[in-house]
Amino acid sequence: MESLVLDIVTPNGHHYKQPTGLFINNEFVAAASGQTITSIDPATDKPIATVHAAGAEDVDRAVHAAKVALGHASWKKLSPTDRGQMMAKLAQLIDQNKELFASIDAWDNGKPYHVALNEDLPEAITTIQYYSGWADKTFGQTISTTPDKFAYTLRQPIGVIAQIIPWNYPLSMAAWKLGPALACGNTIVLKPAEQTPLSILVLATLIKTAGFPPGVINILNGTGKDAGAALVAHPLVDKVAFTGSTATAKHIMKTAADTLKNITLETGGKSPLLVFPDADLEQAVKWAHFGIMSNQGQICTATSRVFVHRAVMDEFLARFRETVTTTSIVGDQWDENTFQGPQVTRAQYERVLQYVDIGKREGATLFMGGEKAVVADPKNRSGYFVQPTVFTDVTDEMRIAREEVFGPVVVVLPFEEEDEAVRRANDSTYGLGAAVFTRDIQRGHRVAAEIEAGMVWINSSQDCDPRVPFGGVKQSGIGRELGQAGLEAYSQVKAVHVNMGTKL
Ligand code: ADP
Repeated sequence: MESLVLDIVTPNGHHYKQPTGLFINNEFVAAASGQTITSIDPATDKPIATVHAAGAEDVDRAVHAAKVALGHASWKKLSPTDRGQMMAKLAQLIDQNKELFASIDAWDNGKPYHVALNEDLPEAITTIQYYSGWADKTFGQTISTTPDKFAYTLRQPIGVIAQIIPWNYPLSMAAWKLGPALACGNTIVLKPAEQTPLSILVLATLIKTAGFPPGVINILNGTGKDAGAALVAHPLVDKVAFTGSTATAKHIMKTAADTLKNITLETGGKSPLLVFPDADLEQAVKWAHFGIMSNQGQICTATSRVFVHRAVMDEFLARFRETVTTTSIVGDQWDENTFQGPQVTRAQYERVLQYVDIGKREGATLFMGGEKAVVADPKNRSGYFVQPTVFTDVTDEMRIAREEVFGPVVVVLPFEEEDEAVRRANDSTYGLGAAVFTRDIQRGHRVAAEIEAGMVWINSSQDCDPRVPFGGVKQSGIGRELGQAGLEAYSQVKAVHVNMGTKL
C-alpha cells in the first residue's frame, strides 16, 4: 500500500504532519503486509486516522534491523556516557513536544487532556531521564577466588528485545520499556497496542532527531495476533517484555518457550485496598476513589476491591458516594472539568457494562452507577462513556470480586479482623498492588509485609515513580520494571575467569 501521511488538526488545535509507516532503520516504510489500523476517537466513535500495520514479513525485517544494529559500531562501541546523553536528548525532545503528545494520547485513548499533559507526559519524560543516568552506571564486579586466579563480571545487553505494550498509557508505557532497555545497550522492536497507534509515531520521529543509530529502536504498529505473535515467535528475538492482560501473557510465555526467550511480564490485577477502623477516613475515601476511578479505571494496579472495617462501613460509603458524585465528572477529553473520559474502545465499554450485569445477576447491590453515562454535548452521544459504578453486598466468590473489570467499577466488602482482611485480600490469583489505610504504624508495616503483592501503598494508592520497582507476584507478572531493579530485566552477567598462575 502507498505511504500514508497524517495531516490533521487535533480537536484542541494542534496541526501536525506525520508519516504513518512502520519505523525500521530510522525510516518510515510502507507495510509489506498491506494491512492498516484505523484509530477511533472513543468520545465520538469517529475515525481519527489510519496507519500502517505490520505482518510477519515486516516483523522479520524489523528484527533483522535490530540484530544488525546490535553489533554495529555506531551502537555497540558508543560509550555508555554518550548513550545516556542521547537518551537525555530524547527526554528533552519529548518535553518540547509535550502538548502535542498529550493531545494525541487524549484523542486516541480517551483520557482527559489535562491528565495526559500533567501525569502521563511527566512520567514518560522522567522515566527516560532517569534511565539516561543509569547508562554509564551499570558495570560488573571483580571477585577474588584463589591466590592465582580471580574473576570479573561484565554486565552486557540481552540483545534484541521485543517490547509489546498496552493502550492505557500509550506514551509512558513506551518510556518504561525503552528507558532501561536502551540504558543497558539493547536494540528494540516495539509494538504499541492497536487501539492507540498514534503518539508512538511522533516518538519515532524524535528518536531519529535524538541521534539514535538506525535499527536501534524500531517501531511497528500492528495487531497482537499478527505483529505481536510474529515478534514473540521470531528466533532472533532474545527477550520479550510485555505489559497487558494475563491471558495474553500466558500465550506469550508458551510461545517464548519454543526458543527459550527471556521474558518479563506485567499483567492484570484485582488489587485490594484495606480500610482499618483507625484510618483517616477522608484520606481513605480520597485515595480509594482515585485508585479505581482515575484513568477511567483502566489501570492494571487499580484498587478494585475495597475492604472496609464494619465499624466504619456506613460512614465510608456515605463519603465515597459524595466523592464519586462531586469528583468523577464524566465528559470528553477536552473539557478541563472532566475527571473520567470515555473507555478506550467499544469492546472495553461493552465489557464494563457486561460486568455490571454479571454483578447484578450475582445478587450484589448496585450502590451507584451501572449505566451508560450520557454526556451533554451531542457530538459525544455515541461515545463510550460509563457511569462510575460501586457495588456493595458483594461476596468474595462473585466474579465482580475476582475478575479484572478494567473499568470504573469497584466492589466494597466489609471485614471484622485484621487476619481475616489479609487472608481475603490474598485470596486472589493476582498480586499486583495493595493499599492499607491505618494510623497504626505497626499495623501498616505488618500488613504491608503480609499482603501478596508486588507493590503496597500505606495510606495512599497508585503512587508510581521511575526510581521505585514495579511489578507483580502470582499471576500479575514476572520480573520488575523501573528503578535499579528494571536494569536486571535488560542486562545479563558474563563471568570471566582469569588465571595468572601456572598451577592447576
Ligand atoms: P487488552 O486485552 O487489554 O487489549 P492484550 O493483552 O490483549 O490486552 O494487549 C496488550 C498488548 O499485547 C497489545 O499490544 C496487543 O496487541 C498485544 N497482543 C495481543 N495478543 C497478542 C499475542 N497473541 N501475541 C503477542 N502480542 C499480543
